[in-house]
Amino acid sequence: MSQKRIAIIGGGPAGLAAAELLSLSGHAVTVYDAMPTFARKFLLAGKSGLNITHSEDYARFATRFGAASARLRPALDAFTPSDIRDWAAGLGTETFVGSSGRVFPTVMKASPLLRAWLRRLEAQGTTLRTRHRWVGFADQGYVFETPEGRSIVHCDAALLALGGASWPRLGSDASWLPWLLEKGVEIDAFQPANCGFVVGWSESFRERFAGEPVKSVTATSEAGTFPGEFVITANGIEGSLVYAHAASLRDRLLDRGSAALTLDLAPGRTVERLTRDLTRQDAKSSFSNRLRKGAGLDGVKAALLRELAPERDRTEPGRLAGMIKALPVPLLDTRPIAEAISSAGGIRWSGIDDGFMLKALPGTFVAGEMLDWEAPTGGYLLTACLATGRAAARGIEAWLDR
Ligand SMILES: Cc1cc2nc3c(=O)[nH]c(=O)nc-3n(C[C@H](O)[C@H](O)[C@H](O)COP(=O)(O)OP(=O)(O)OC[C@H]3O[C@@H](n4cnc5c(N)ncnc54)[C@H](O)[C@@H]3O)c2cc1C
Repeated sequence: MSQKRIAIIGGGPAGLAAAELLSLSGHAVTVYDAMPTFARKFLLAGKSGLNITHSEDYARFATRFGAASARLRPALDAFTPSDIRDWAAGLGTETFVGSSGRVFPTVMKASPLLRAWLRRLEAQGTTLRTRHRWVGFADQGYVFETPEGRSIVHCDAALLALGGASWPRLGSDASWLPWLLEKGVEIDAFQPANCGFVVGWSESFRERFAGEPVKSVTATSEAGTFPGEFVITANGIEGSLVYAHAASLRDRLLDRGSAALTLDLAPGRTVERLTRDLTRQDAKSSFSNRLRKGAGLDGVKAALLRELAPERDRTEPGRLAGMIKALPVPLLDTRPIAEAISSAGGIRWSGIDDGFMLKALPGTFVAGEMLDWEAPTGGYLLTACLATGRAAARGIEAWLDR
């Protein structure tokens, strides 16, 4: 194929993955990003340990993307979790499987991988342009605001890889929505995914326990029952166990206006055993003493019961045991999308062909979190962004070669 001019707009993992394949094929690829540096969210993801993919059985892995799993499958098949580990190793970043099955770089950070990746892109002839904000279409081209003023880029094909709507200060602020809606692209409103929730804590609970982890519990919602831990925040709850339930809780809040996450504070003990052990406690001793001696609960777990269990359920041993095993935490709202790890919603699959081209805009392709899929934390997000970026690159090549 002769060399074509390809604009990649958005230099996060999805855009950079596409640029890597297209520049390797010898095309004149330019990556534009609004921010002063590339892939800021990817770098932030590395601050708390970059979870780049997951090692679970691939058949199960590929179902983690909910309703979008079938549409994502060909892209994932072409860049599987083990391909990601090989790719990272090729860039000098070895990975290991953590006890949860999650895959991390041995250095945990994203920065060495990103540096090597950008070096590879430049070595392959990719032009990298920061501080170039795409602001819409004009004159059959893509309009950018740059430090030198406005410019219009004309190209043979373009990929939009502009991210979702969480953490807008890192660059993905969804400011592109109106320009695509205007062109007839159907987009579902962005919603927070892998997000925290608002709980109406009392002032005393908030002051004493904000920042406190709640460990070794299980939590139940319509999504299922999972073990893990979460954190009490000043306004509610967040953390991996909460994120595992976030999509189901968010949807319930949207549908019915209320939702609760049900906690088992003593997963190792049955309700019968707890009832027996609590019955043995002196009825005159304090609530804290009865909980500590009868159920082995103190600190934040005891405080959660005091905060959330109705008074009448705290005295009778059977009812208290029931609360310890199934304590509902009433949720008032999701925390704002600006604080969420990722977003749900985005460009509808019905408007995208199998090569990731927008049906309403031939020659314009899309990839990454701006598409309508969501997944739990665990490396699934980055895997799908890298895989869709590469799949869109192949879609661009096939379209240019048509
Ligand atoms: C705190 C945190 C931790 C995370 N940890 C993990 C993790 O461990 N594992 C995991 O799998 N995922 C993690 N994620 C999610 C993951 O980082 C994202 O899903 C992923 O970065 C999305 O990639 P993307 O390329 O689609 O979009 P982004 O990474 O958001 O990149 C989009 C790019 O487009 C640019 N852009 C946007 N609008 C314009 C415009 N108009 N003009 C030009 N450029 C524009 C932005 O500046 C940005 O560089 C984490 C996210 C957060 C916030």
